Amino acid sequence: MDASDRPQVAPAPGAGGPGARGRAETNPRQGAEQAMKYWRQPLDRDEIKVTRGRVEVIKDRCKGCGFCIAYCSRGLLVMSRKFNRKGYHYPEAAQPELCVNCHFCEVICPEFAIFSSEADAAGDRPPVGE
Ligand code: SF4
Ligand code: SF4
Repeated sequence: MDASDRPQVAPAPGAGGPGARGRAETNPRQGAEQAMKYWRQPLDRDEIKVTRGRVEVIKDRCKGCGFCIAYCSRGLLVMSRKFNRKGYHYPEAAQPELCVNCHFCEVICPEFAIFSSEADAAGDRPPVGE
């Protein structure tokens, strides 16, 4: 068995060896950027299905604090120009199709006036709290 028959083994980082000359010709910054490009994208990214949600507001419970608008992870809520029975403005979904059913608005609301549920494939259910 001569040297050409042996399997090629990558040397340990920092060690010399047959690959050292080749690596020295590569820009290390380019290598790091290339590696990060792949780190930033999960390999199964195209297979992951993003949950679709439907957000609903129980208008007359709302006290218009705006927490849900400020913290919505998709920024889809806006304050309505209308008033509820208590005289407060309440949130509305300006782009309801963006909701991902993360429940964050629901968790942060001090009045239990907003919640989300998984959007069903068939379409809409009757709204709650009208
Ligand atoms: S469930 Fe999440 S994405 Fe949907 S409205 Fe609430 S905070 Fe926004
Ligand atoms: S967090 Fe609750 S009380 Fe505050 S604006 Fe949103 S729905 Fe109304």
